[in-house]
Amino acid sequence: MSEKANNEEVDYNYLYDDGDRLITRTGDSFRDRVSTIDRKGHRVWVYPHKPKGIFHRFRILTSIILLVIMGGTPFIKLNGDPLILLNVIERKFIIFGMHFWMQDFFIFALSFIALVIFIVLFTAIFGRIWCGWACPQTIFMEMVFRKIEYLIEGDGPKQRKLDESPYTFIKIFKKTLKHTIFFALSWLIGNIFLSYIIGVDELFHIISEPVQQHTAGFIAMLVFTLVFYGIFARFREQACIYICPYGRLQSVLLDKNSIVVAYDFVRGEPRTKLRKDIDPTNAGDCIDCSLCVKVCPTGIDIRNGTQLECGNCTACIDACNSVMKKVKKPKNLIKYASINQIESNQKFRFTTRIALYSVLLIALIVLNAVLIGSKSDIGVTMFKAKGSEYIINDDESISNLYTLTLINKTSEKMYIDIIIKDIPAKVKLVGTDKIVLNPNQLMETAAIIEIPEDYIDDGKLEIKVGFYNNGKILNSLKTNFSAPKEKEKKEKHENHK
Ligand code: SF4
Ligand code: SF4
Repeated sequence: MSEKANNEEVDYNYLYDDGDRLITRTGDSFRDRVSTIDRKGHRVWVYPHKPKGIFHRFRILTSIILLVIMGGTPFIKLNGDPLILLNVIERKFIIFGMHFWMQDFFIFALSFIALVIFIVLFTAIFGRIWCGWACPQTIFMEMVFRKIEYLIEGDGPKQRKLDESPYTFIKIFKKTLKHTIFFALSWLIGNIFLSYIIGVDELFHIISEPVQQHTAGFIAMLVFTLVFYGIFARFREQACIYICPYGRLQSVLLDKNSIVVAYDFVRGEPRTKLRKDIDPTNAGDCIDCSLCVKVCPTGIDIRNGTQLECGNCTACIDACNSVMKKVKKPKNLIKYASINQIESNQKFRFTTRIALYSVLLIALIVLNAVLIGSKSDIGVTMFKAKGSEYIINDDESISNLYTLTLINKTSEKMYIDIIIKDIPAKVKLVGTDKIVLNPNQLMETAAIIEIPEDYIDDGKLEIKVGFYNNGKILNSLKTNFSAPKEKEKKEKHENHK
């Protein structure tokens, strides 16, 4: 159903769902479909007008800072290591100089849960500020690709006209230029993305050396470039609407207390056009100019209430403020506000929901800090060698063979000594005299532990093994040592006699 502009013909009753969320104005059909899909299921291409205003200027500034951080971080090194490395291929992670391996997965799992709680809490209070101000997809789309598009093809209406016009030299030139720049930028973004995974040094090898030497890396580079080009040249806002899980969760994360980009319907309705033939008595402040809709990069009408497509980009706030200035009415008809604020002028409330999320988040942060603080510099696993049995030596001692996996989680070389205190045990390395672990090295080796028979009761003993570097203990673990049982020992002694 198409929307009627004349307030006399439309019944503006606001309806709320069970969760008290504004769902519709009577008669509207906007909840039945997304704004960028027409009734036949075809994509509706959005040609947003250029945004301008104070919020947009702040967003440009924020975006520049974030782009510099995003692009510069892979080049920053700490003790020779990248500041951040998320090498999912080799399962190696460095975050602010701290090395994490898959053995530290529980820290990652807890951090991830803490991040989810933080997002839920942050969204419950501030709505989708992340989407509009800090999400890389929004920053690249609105502050980089869209700006280039405006520069080459002009404002939204001009772009529409160009798309609808037949192919001419100018159109082909503009489209080719735009897509060439888009592709080059996608390659750059793809490379930045890749450098977070493999590090800048490896990336430079892929770029500077023959393709045959880095086939997998080159394919990854190409795939990332094509994916980013596809997203920014064609898919655009659809990524936020259909793919981003955060966007899809908004309906359960927000409530009437959350601060979102919202239309002040109390002040704005009944919306009334500025026309001589319409009586302005009892008219709301909205003059139904539709500028807020025209600037929206997701093609929605914020006057319909909070919607899945709204990325809180603030373009409609700027647009409406410029209109309000022209018609000499107070600013902020569209503003950052909660529905409670708009409806009943209610200030922000610290609800039970927010309190519970906060307590949970603080508990998770403390737990994570403790775990990170107590994280060992080396990771060790030690198991009895598969299929091996104890060996009784001539000097009445018992030997067990173990396999060891050691990981150096630092950027320093380590010389590892394996020491068992409390009992006179000997540790003999197999195939090497010394364990030398290079930075970030994973080493698999074997060791024989010998313990005098007298120290072992009834066939087994739990031993505590320490791993030292320059006399400093780095890690320790407990493992089982097996030996003959009492009965077997007696039999052996009798056989001797
Ligand atoms: S409704 Fe406003 S804040 Fe939301 S996406 Fe559209 S322009 Fe941005
Ligand atoms: S820009 Fe403001 S005045 Fe114009 S339609 Fe939107 S809310 Fe109404």
